[in-house]
Amino acid sequence: MAETSIEWTDATWNPVAGCTILTAGCTNCYAMRMAARLEAMGQEKYQGLTRKTGGRSKWTGKITLDPKSLSVPETWSKPRKVFVNSMSDLFHSDVPADFIREVWGVMQRTPRHTYQILTKRPDRMMEVLSRGDFPVLPNVWLGTSVEDDRVLSRIDDLRNVPAAIRFISFEPLIGSVAGANLDRVHWAIVGGESGPNSRYMDPLWVDEIETICRRAGTAFFFKQWGGRNKKAAGRELNGRTYDEMPTASVHTFG
Ligand code: SF4
Repeated sequence: MAETSIEWTDATWNPVAGCTILTAGCTNCYAMRMAARLEAMGQEKYQGLTRKTGGRSKWTGKITLDPKSLSVPETWSKPRKVFVNSMSDLFHSDVPADFIREVWGVMQRTPRHTYQILTKRPDRMMEVLSRGDFPVLPNVWLGTSVEDDRVLSRIDDLRNVPAAIRFISFEPLIGSVAGANLDRVHWAIVGGESGPNSRYMDPLWVDEIETICRRAGTAFFFKQWGGRNKKAAGRELNGRTYDEMPTASVHTFG
């Protein structure tokens, strides 16, 4: 629930905190490190979410629902792009469908905001949203993260979810995804991993995604090269920046 430096959004909103590691893209999870810091600062919501092992903080598997934060977007009068659950995964199996329904209610009551929900569990997203009482909201964008070609099937799951905008975050990109099918995907974000243990991103893998986007008519957003000093590495690709955003009016329900 705060302003953020993430390039493709305006604010974060965290009705849930805590997660479990799922695949290679989770290894250096930013939320996991941040949760440990927030716990050390005494923030109640983050207590018990991580523990130290081998000098690093790891999720314990505890998931904290924070009903108090549900009303926060209703207090923001100015329209914002809101990244939902930057500190968790809304479709983690331990987040009850009833709670997700409450999140949906807030998004429905605040059409001035655009909500961006990113999950590594689009299979559960598909299962929950198909229950019939989750309306397709024009101000809600649904996305999944794909770090390499071992998890390309997440894109197929996402494609089957009705949404105004469907998007993929290829971040941290740690392998080629040349076989990705972006049909009916409206937006692709690409980024390298940052921080002390960041893994390499080959520029060729980025070019491959841009080519697939051009073919599929998918908006292409290049977020960053990443690395140990992400500011120095910057976010230019082939001499320019790419900040394309999807257009709901063109792609709604497409
Ligand atoms: S799914 Fe997201 S929040 Fe959960 S461990 Fe993986 S990267 Fe972190």
